[in-house]
Amino acid sequence: MEIDEWEKLYSESFSNISGLLKNINGVFVAYNSNVDAIKHIREHEVKRLINLLGCRNVQQRILDYPRDIKDPVDFMARLIIAMRDGKAAEVPTYTTDLHDWLMDNLVFDKARIGGQAGIISNLLASLDVKDVITYVPWLSREQAEYFVDKPNLKYPVVEDGTLILKSPKDAYEPEQKAKINWIIEFSKGTKVDCSGDVFSVPRDNRLIVSSRPKWLRIDMPNYLYEHLPELSKGIDGAILAGYQMIKENYDDGSDCHNYVEKAVNVIEKLKETNPKMRIHVEFTSIQNKVIRKAILTEIVSRHVTSLGLDTVEVANALNVLGYEEIAYAVMEKDEKSIISLYEGAVKLLCELDLERVHIHSLGFYICVASKDYPLDVESHRQSLLFASTLAAAQASLGDINNMEDASAGLQVPVYDQGYEDLKQLEKYLVRRSICSAKDFEDGCIHASTHNLIIVPSKVVKEPVATVGIGDTISAGAFVAILAKINENL
Ligand code: ADP
Repeated sequence: MEIDEWEKLYSESFSNISGLLKNINGVFVAYNSNVDAIKHIREHEVKRLINLLGCRNVQQRILDYPRDIKDPVDFMARLIIAMRDGKAAEVPTYTTDLHDWLMDNLVFDKARIGGQAGIISNLLASLDVKDVITYVPWLSREQAEYFVDKPNLKYPVVEDGTLILKSPKDAYEPEQKAKINWIIEFSKGTKVDCSGDVFSVPRDNRLIVSSRPKWLRIDMPNYLYEHLPELSKGIDGAILAGYQMIKENYDDGSDCHNYVEKAVNVIEKLKETNPKMRIHVEFTSIQNKVIRKAILTEIVSRHVTSLGLDTVEVANALNVLGYEEIAYAVMEKDEKSIISLYEGAVKLLCELDLERVHIHSLGFYICVASKDYPLDVESHRQSLLFASTLAAAQASLGDINNMEDASAGLQVPVYDQGYEDLKQLEKYLVRRSICSAKDFEDGCIHASTHNLIIVPSKVVKEPVATVGIGDTISAGAFVAILAKINENL
């Protein structure tokens, strides 16, 4: 199919899916929401903070290279390292003290919702999906303020033994502290002077200070857990994310296995009254291989139906599942890596006993689905095109507040490089008689053991923001699928 035919298909798919979203009865979204406090730091502010903390102290700490941030000097050391190298970095902090210090000494320019579940909840509510039931185990007053204020976005609480769905702003825990991540952006050319040690920042980038206070748990209180079967009766699917916050060991003697078990119990409880409920997990980077493997083999495998991930995450997942060679080939980033990406997707589908694996990359999406999935390949393709339109809208506007904003994505052209990259995969699949050239070009393939859907995506050349686009893609495609399935009922 030529690019202009894809563009036509994009418009048709967007109007089809946007008209069908009302078919969805409800979606449950958990666990990770936080507030992102964003500050663009300027030369004079860096200077002021260095003076405040003492240049010698900061220089010494730079040599120590702190792995986590315990105090403001650690923060300044990691900021200067990131600025010196022009590299993005994410460093955890285990208390909320640094937040207080930053509020007293720097203050953010703007704040917005962060965390996969937070971003997805707001997106779905903004698209007018009925009953977006969001759950975050640490709903503070600050956190509640960053959820969109719409009647279809609800938070579950139990009052006098009864499950009630409330607006997050009426449901927060007054004593709960907020999980606030700081994103410190800096610009190329900013000069930093730490007692004569002067440099100029080589490239625009950012330091993220990720808040990981000790009370952070991927969990749910028992009284709510007991009501999950009632909650799930009225909804069609769940989107679960945030498992990367599970730790290997906790101070109270519990470990990752306890939390993996709790996570599985929640899924099973959701399915108790709604066994056909579709469950999507949005994967992310997880450094700790023990946790990464446990999430895949114990939570995702057998319990979840759909998995969304980017190319690096595909390699990381394959790696812990014992497919090091394919993982390596995915990361090679040469013209053959797209073939490995497809092979990897099939491995994940089979190995983890899934119905659907959706990989998003810059320029194309690959989705493999089981043969018995209750949806034809054309409907899968419409869902992917809808998701790509949302991604383009988010990259160009920074935020999607309603369906009209979402439709702005249609103005963004299909990325020609992504379209070209797909040709390598076409050659491979046609040579192996997995499909004909015509089927490949239409993006709808019936292979012998699975179905395969491949689309070139829309890419914004100069995006306003890129945070959370992967979450938008996966959530958009997943709800489009739910809407399509309900259309056929
Ligand atoms: P995040 O965790 O921030 O969501 P991911 O790596 O999971 O990031 O996903 C990023 C995805 O966003 C990419 O795979 C790509 O498909 C999409 N994307 C990134 N930049 C753009 C852009 N400028 N225009 C459209 N899509 C983009």
